[in-house]
Amino acid sequence: MKTTCAGSPTGSASTSRDPETVPEFTIDLVSDTSTRPSKEMLAAMAAAPTGDEQRDEDPTTLALCEEVADYLGKEAALFLPSGTMCNLIAFLVHCRPGDEIICASNAHVFGSEGGGASAVAGTQFRTVETADGIFSGADVRAFSRPRRHRSPRSRLVSVEQTTNRGGGAVWPVETLAEVAAAAKEAGLIVHMDGARLPNAAIASGRPAAEHAATVDTVWIDFSKGLGCPVGGALAGPKDFIEAAWTWKHRLGGAMRQSGVLAAAARHALKHNLERLAEDHANAAALAAGIEDIPGLEIFPTVPQSNIFFLNVAGTGKTAPQIAARMAEEGLRLGVETPTRMRAVTHLDVDRPGIDLAIGIIRRAISG
Ligand SMILES: *Cc1c(COP(=O)(O)O)cnc(C)c1O
Repeated sequence: MKTTCAGSPTGSASTSRDPETVPEFTIDLVSDTSTRPSKEMLAAMAAAPTGDEQRDEDPTTLALCEEVADYLGKEAALFLPSGTMCNLIAFLVHCRPGDEIICASNAHVFGSEGGGASAVAGTQFRTVETADGIFSGADVRAFSRPRRHRSPRSRLVSVEQTTNRGGGAVWPVETLAEVAAAAKEAGLIVHMDGARLPNAAIASGRPAAEHAATVDTVWIDFSKGLGCPVGGALAGPKDFIEAAWTWKHRLGGAMRQSGVLAAAARHALKHNLERLAEDHANAAALAAGIEDIPGLEIFPTVPQSNIFFLNVAGTGKTAPQIAARMAEEGLRLGVETPTRMRAVTHLDVDRPGIDLAIGIIRRAISG
């Protein structure tokens, strides 16, 4: 008999999938979450000293939190199962129901986290229209509401480093400082969704702590460019992390022998940070290798980090048609809309893989 893990008895394409029909892609550029834990990472996980995390007795998790706090220049950090939970807990601690969060219109917190900020934290968003996901101090001034009985309370500004749906753009440290200054003036808290802050640090040549210096709270994802199977870590002042612990527990994010996961993250911080430069070079090489395909538009034309978009509207083919052709040769890109695709480079695709991908994309679009 066939069973399903999905909530509904019939399931659906996205919630229940026959394990035997999960496709394999030789070159998977759909996301930097596609990475598999390396042999060395798995060995580090197997060798990790562990204890009960809920009792603050897991030595590997404690060590990881210290390292992350250090890396981000914050007092304390908290290990969590996902980046989504990092954002949600930050909003839960900082905001009260009815409060308003200012973010970019293409922000992950707004469009890609199941509406958790509204459903769980009771907050609402006020979004700034921006193609690359970056906004200014003037935008913060324009979008924060003066205190009135009838208005929602403007409470927090959320910035995303790098901007995922903004095409991997890197917020300059100076722009972050300007936004933070405007937020402070308006009495607002600043939170950084730093899912790819490590990429921003490598791309800009400025340490992660410099990017985080003007924000109140910040997190990094281990399951993106850093190549871990699971996890994120949220950082900020000690009292914030103390309050965040309560929410971690309430939401079911408190773990037991989490050291096996924290060990993967510690391994990644040691071995997978500097090499992000390779992913950025590979994204640039991929973009350069396909930019002359007739009808294809690339955004941004020169990738700043490991993400860029392909607008295929002028090619005479739809994104799903192109994706199907690519799949025949073992390549996957993201299909965002009928005319838009996304390419994300990561540590499981090397330069020879990129060179192959260039040929496959050319054939899929022009062949
Ligand atoms: C992936 C991502 C998240 C969520 O992280 P998960 O670990 O997948 O929950 C949040 N923000 C951005 C910008 C992301 O890319």
